[in-house]
Amino acid sequence: MRKPIIAGNWKMNNTIAEGTKLIKDLAALVADVTEVDIVVCPTATALEAVANACGNTKLHLGAQNVHWEQNGAFTGEISTAMLKELCVEYVIIGHSERREYFAETDETVNKRTKAAIAAGLIPIVCCGETLEIREAGTTNAFVGGQIKAGLADLTADQVANIVIAYEPIWAIGTGKTATSDQANEVCAFIRQTVAEKFGKDAANKVRIQYGGSVKPSTIADLMSKSDVDGALVGGASLKAEDFSNIVKF
Ligand code: PEP
Repeated sequence: MRKPIIAGNWKMNNTIAEGTKLIKDLAALVADVTEVDIVVCPTATALEAVANACGNTKLHLGAQNVHWEQNGAFTGEISTAMLKELCVEYVIIGHSERREYFAETDETVNKRTKAAIAAGLIPIVCCGETLEIREAGTTNAFVGGQIKAGLADLTADQVANIVIAYEPIWAIGTGKTATSDQANEVCAFIRQTVAEKFGKDAANKVRIQYGGSVKPSTIADLMSKSDVDGALVGGASLKAEDFSNIVKF
């Protein structure tokens, strides 16, 4: 019912030369895949070259951030129009690294998300708890709060078309994948939160990814779960073979 979506977050990795080589290798490996939306999210400097390399392949282009204003004195930021100009379709918003190192808040996540949707970009809105929050047993309350604040003021139709990435911070880049049951439990809770706020139809349509040390060996189990519709992949998206094997779960 919901088309799986696997996105690779390259973070601050890959020069233009490295990125275009990766796309060439990846495109060949996933040429036969039709039933999964595949998204690659390079750094801003490589977007244009990667857009060209994606050309007529199955790969969709995503950015790692976007600002909510259309232009102006916002040094280092990028507008929706600038991304659209480069054929970007998706944009990661509120990744935990942006929240931790660059003062991203639920409020700025909400502003970026609204701007992305208004411009016709599909936001991949990230949420997820720290180890302390999980150990305190307050994961649902925390993640539910991030979802409600991050998606504030959106309509049901808008929410139906976005992507949410549940990424427990303790599993990102640590090699510790959440078990498929842990991932599904929170993804199901996010869907329930969406249902309460935006209605059942939006909840049934919104795609929810799991992210956190996803590897070729863990993806099949994760994707077998009822509320996991895909993955946001960091480290393993930097190798064409690994990422293609994740895409072909
Ligand atoms: C991420 O950056 O979104 C991520 C999940 O990273 P990794 O797969 O390396 O844990």
